[in-house]
Amino acid sequence: MARITSTSQSETESQERLENVVTPTHSVNDAATTGETVLKINGLTRQYEQECAVEEVSLSVSAGELVTLLGPSGCGKTTTLRMIAGLEQPTEGSIQIEDTVVADDSRFIPSEDRDVGLVFQDFALFPHLSVEENITFGIKDWDRTKKAQRADELLELVGLSDHSDKSPDQLSGGQQQRVALARSLAPEPDVLLLDEPFSNLDVRLRIEMREEVRRILKEAGVTAISVTHDQEEALSISDRVAIMNDGHLEQVGKPEEVFENPESRFVASFLGRASFLPGTVLDDMIETEIGNFRTERLNGPLKDYDGADLDILVRPDDLEASSSEGATADGRIVHRQYNGPTFVYQVELHSGSTVRCLHNHAETFEHGQQVSVSLESDHGLAWYPRT
Ligand code: ATP
Repeated sequence: MARITSTSQSETESQERLENVVTPTHSVNDAATTGETVLKINGLTRQYEQECAVEEVSLSVSAGELVTLLGPSGCGKTTTLRMIAGLEQPTEGSIQIEDTVVADDSRFIPSEDRDVGLVFQDFALFPHLSVEENITFGIKDWDRTKKAQRADELLELVGLSDHSDKSPDQLSGGQQQRVALARSLAPEPDVLLLDEPFSNLDVRLRIEMREEVRRILKEAGVTAISVTHDQEEALSISDRVAIMNDGHLEQVGKPEEVFENPESRFVASFLGRASFLPGTVLDDMIETEIGNFRTERLNGPLKDYDGADLDILVRPDDLEASSSEGATADGRIVHRQYNGPTFVYQVELHSGSTVRCLHNHAETFEHGQQVSVSLESDHGLAWYPRT
């Protein structure tokens, strides 16, 4: 296990990083079945001289849960993770891990005395140690038999039982990540922190390893917090996603909840390829420039919004374009993106608003072509009052 800041692979640096963070041992497996709170963050704030990197962030994480902090660059994800790790001292607020308050106004328990593990972006494996020695690095002091048993358990968990004597440079990127994960899990930390865990892998491997890492974390029953700016990664691996913006938590929820019911325009814009379709509520109908719909097609009651202007969240799979000319056309194709199996067409409507439409690769429209756009979604659409 470990935690860290730098991305250098040098041996000495790797060793220093790990030695700084060897933690006491503690099992989370019992807690994982009870659903109790393992990590509680309250009003967490980190002020730098010029800037408040994290402001009043509160979050509880249950035993065995995998929560991902997601947000654009500079929104405060890493600072939050570093405060949980004990690498950064909060300016205000508190952090409790299991029954221990590890940071508040009057105390700050340093990283090496917290029961947390960190998986580094660059894996930070020791090149001169074997896979097994890397895995047992944080439990060097354990009794020999117990240590060997733990190593066998973890090698099996991460599917590397046949590679225990190899050195890290004889492993693929995915295998190196498995070793890093096994090493972090070895001392059975209360909380495992994963800092952009897939950023060092190529795109194809990243997708494969997402599922594998989730499987390993779930089988280990560990409580985990991951950090990423990749929405697809966050939505695919997490039990809950915590979306951050400008130092604040914007929304926390299950991936489906935050994707389907974004509570703010920021969350809506950040998840999926969102467009906002302007509309006006008139009785039980919404008038838009691509047609009129019943208000039932939108989420939530709209009875207080009669006459109001709204922006309706539409993603590419909600809309379909069809060839059209003259008065029936809603706009024209201004951009087309070929993705292999699909095309995403961007349509500029007469008002100047743009929306995107997802089509099968066989449905081709030319740049500039006139089209009409229809709403094909079969789920409630989120909306926001026009400001
Ligand atoms: P990224 O995805 O790019 O890593 P992030 O969401 O993890 O971004 P943080 O690294 O937490 O963001 O930084 C949040 C803000 O705090 C940024 O504006 C950053 O410039 C600022 N910041 C971070 N560390 C420091 C520091 N040591 N001193 C001053 N400002 C800092």
